[in-house]
Amino acid sequence: MKTIGLIGGMSWESSSEYYKIINETIKARLGGLHSAQSLMYSVDFAELEILQRQGKWQEAGQMMAEAAQRLERGGADFIVLCTNTMHKAVDEIRATTHIPLLHIVDPTARQIEAAGLTCVGLLGTRYTMEESFYIGRLTQNFNLQVLIPAAEEREMVNRVIFEELVLGDIRPASRQSYLEIIERLVQRGAQGVILGCTEIGLLVKDGDCAVPLFDTTRLHAEAAVDYALKD
Ligand code: GLU
Repeated sequence: MKTIGLIGGMSWESSSEYYKIINETIKARLGGLHSAQSLMYSVDFAELEILQRQGKWQEAGQMMAEAAQRLERGGADFIVLCTNTMHKAVDEIRATTHIPLLHIVDPTARQIEAAGLTCVGLLGTRYTMEESFYIGRLTQNFNLQVLIPAAEEREMVNRVIFEELVLGDIRPASRQSYLEIIERLVQRGAQGVILGCTEIGLLVKDGDCAVPLFDTTRLHAEAAVDYALKD
C-alpha cells in the first residue's frame, strides 16, 4: 500500500471527513484490521483565508508547496490536496515536489462521465466558481459543460462556506437556500451538480434533490484509496 500525503486544514472540518472516508474505504476493500497508511500536514486556515481574500495567491501557493514538500520528506508517495480552491496552486506544488498529486477535478469528472452526464452545475467558493483554474479543467480535459449560479447566489454560497461550514456550523436555512440554488441550476439544464467545496457535503448530500450530487471530498478520498492500492 502506498502512503497517502494529505494537505489538510482547509478546513479541518473537511480534512476529518477525508481521513474518515479514506480509512472506511480501505477497511471496506481490504477487510480485517486494515487502515490507510497516511500522513497529514494541516495548515492554519485563518492564515490561508487572509491570503486568499487579499489576492496573495503566490504566498498561498507557497504555503501549499511547503506543505507538500514536508509530506514528501516525511515519506508520502503522493499528494492529496484536501480543498478545491487551493488547486489554483497545483503548478507550484508540482514544480517543487517529485511525487504525484491527484487532482480533485479528475475523479469528479470521471464519475460525471460514467453517469453519462454532459452538463453540470458547480457550487464552491467564489474562486472556484468564477476563475478558470477549475472550470477550465472540467471543460477542456473532460469536455463537460459547466453552469454556475447567478452573481447574488454565488455570493450567498461563498458566504455560507466561509461564515458557517468551515466552522462546522450546519444550518437548515442554508441547506434550504443551497437546494433552491441547485433547483435553479437544474431548470437551466444541469443534469447533476458538483459539490466543489470540500465542506458542502456536510450541508447537502446526494439524494437531497432530484439530480445526482457529485461530492468532491468523497470522490477525491476514494480516488486516493484507488491509487494507494494500485500496483
Ligand atoms: N474547502 C473549501 C474548498 O474546497 C474552501 C476552503 C479554501 O478556501 O481553501 O474549496
